[in-house]
Parts: sequence; structure tokens; C-alpha cells
Amino acid sequence: MARINLEHIRHAYGEKPKSEDDYALKEVHYEWNDGGAYALLGPSGCGKTTLLNIISGLLQPSEGRILFDGRDVTNLSTQQRNIAQVFQFPVIYDTMTVYDNLAFPLRNRHVPEPEVDRRVRETIDMIGLAGWAKKKARGLTADQKQKISLGRGLVRNDVNAILFDEPLTVIDPHMKWVLRSQLKKLHRQFGFTMVYVTHDQTEALTFADKVVVMYDGQIVQIGTPAELFERPSHTFVGYFIGSPGMNVLPASIDGSNVTLGPNTIALDFQPKVAAGAKTELGIRPEFVRLGREGMHVRVHKVEDTGRHKIVRAEFAGKPIAIVVHEDAEIPAEPRVTFDPSAINIYANSWRVGREA
Ligand code: ADP
Ligand code: MG
Repeated sequence: MARINLEHIRHAYGEKPKSEDDYALKEVHYEWNDGGAYALLGPSGCGKTTLLNIISGLLQPSEGRILFDGRDVTNLSTQQRNIAQVFQFPVIYDTMTVYDNLAFPLRNRHVPEPEVDRRVRETIDMIGLAGWAKKKARGLTADQKQKISLGRGLVRNDVNAILFDEPLTVIDPHMKWVLRSQLKKLHRQFGFTMVYVTHDQTEALTFADKVVVMYDGQIVQIGTPAELFERPSHTFVGYFIGSPGMNVLPASIDGSNVTLGPNTIALDFQPKVAAGAKTELGIRPEFVRLGREGMHVRVHKVEDTGRHKIVRAEFAGKPIAIVVHEDAEIPAEPRVTFDPSAINIYANSWRVGREA
């Protein structure tokens, strides 16, 4: 188990990067605490797998250093770094039995056979393949193979860290839930540092103590699920987390007043905004109150999700989403107010804080 420091990591796949656009990772500088459970969340192509492979040693970064407990491991292999990694697709030996596949990482490290047996049996139970131990991997289904892959990552309990790269993509929803709670339990039991990559926000938010959000080769926010929801640091995080995502509306700022079309709202803080910056107001659909008082809004459409209604409307010439209670009535002349404590202000897409 180790504390992992990534120091000014940059990575370009091509030989001679010409511009920032050629970098899959632009600048990642971050400390993963010893024993932390992290979810790495971001859209496809933002650099999650690249970052994971750099932590594990499968990939050498173009620039920067990796430290484990303060020791420079940048030039060490995955095996030397003592890391387990589980990939999106099964990485197993087809000609071996389920049992031997799981025993392999232990035998490879000369673990005594009675202990190999104990750990393999525990792992087989955990991944739900009891009864399949003697079967050759070749004949199994894709999700059974992926469970073996997962088991191979989990069978050792002496690793510095376990890295998961969207490991449950091919697993059915119920088993996904079962395996995820198993991972949580193991993490509590053994305290390994765990990084779990996903593009699924629900998976990330239910799984981790800390969610690290990546966008375009950078980490844009690190926070608890509540922090990501309430105070998205970047408009991208606002769109990406929550469904529907945060409303982001063009706004002009004057002291602590914010103006959107014909409406001016007094903020409970004074954002510091550089002259000429593009300014926007962010408000989650859950914190827009629809009623008979406040600012004009034009309702276009009401979607019923079964749990609540999503009202699609036009506000100050821009589309806005409003989440209302399942039983809420839409007034004939609807108006809106924004919960002041839920307003975020953005300058050039980055949040300017109330703490500033
Ligand atoms: P993610 O895992 O978040 O989907 P990746 O780390 O796989 O993102 O990819 C980040 C960027 O690097 C993407 O633009 C992708 O096309 C590029 N990339 C990934 N792997 C390679 C590779 N082997 N060669 C060239 N470009 C790559
Ligand atoms: Mg990936």
C-alpha cells in the first residue's frame, strides 16, 4: 500500500508533439493518499487509461515523475512497482483452468501452495465462480472471463495499489452491483490504494471517497460527490455530473449583482472576475424554483421520469431545465427564482468562488 505522487506528468503518443493538442495528458500533478479509494471519472478520450498505464508502469510518460512513498519509480516496471491492474477486457490464460488463472499471480511470487489454495478459493467465491474452478477459461462466457480478470487483480493482498480500468463494462447490472460492494469491502479490509476508472457517474459517485474528474487531458476537479454536485469547479463538471446537467447561462457581473437578460439577481458573495472574461451563471435544475413569483420563463415541454418532472423552458432567451416534484403543478404564468446559495459563477469556464 503506498502513497502515489504524480509530478507534472505530460504525455504525447506521437514522436514529435507540435502543439498542446498532441498531448493526451497536458499536466497532471496529484497525490493519491495511501489507502484512498478514488474514482477517476471523465468522458471517453479524456486520458483516463493513459494516466492509469502511467501509474502502473505500462507506459512511460513523456515528462514528469512518479513516486511511491517518496521513492522515484518512473523507470520501474509494473511488476517492480508491485501493482495489480484490471483492464476493461479480460486478460487471462485461455488454456488454463479458472483455478490456475487465479493461482498464477501468487505462484509467480512464490507464495506457499497451501496459502495459494486458500486465497484462490476465497477469490473464486467472491467473484461468483464457485463450481467452475476446474473449467478451462476458454469455454467461459465474456462476463465469466472478466470475473477471472477481476479475481486475478484481487487475489493478491500485498500490492501497493490496484488499478481498475472500467472493469465491469461487460458484467450484467446485478452482478455489477454485487462485485462493486465486494470491492468496497476488500478495500476496507486490506486498505490498498485503489483507483477505479469509469465514465459512469453513478458508479463513481457510489463507489469512491474521492472522485477525480478528468477532462481533455487534465484533472479539473477532485472532490466528494456532494462537492462535485454543489460546486462544480468547471462548467464541464456541471454538465457531466447530474442528470440533467447544470444550467449554464451567459451572465454579466457587476460587483455582487449578476444580470441575465432583463433580470438582475443579487448574489450573497462578490465574485472576483478579470476584465474581459466570459462570465456565466451555473444553477442546477434541482435548485430552480418554479412558481408564480420571480423571473419570467416560458415552458416548452414537461418530461415525466416517474420520480420527478423535468421542465424544459426558455429563460432570458436561453434553454433551461428545471426539476420539479412529481405532483407539482405548472402555473399558467410560470416564473422562476434561483436558490441563492446554489448559484455558481464561472469566468472563462472556471468557477470563481464565494470564498475568494
Ligand atoms: P480514455 O481512457 O479516457 O478514454 P485514453 O487515455 O485512452 O482516454 O486516450 C486519451 C487520448 O490519447 C485520446 O485522444 C486517444 O485517441 C489517444 N490515445 C490513446 N492511446 C493511444 C495510442 N496507443 N496511440 C495514439 N494515441 C492514443
Ligand atoms: Mg479508457
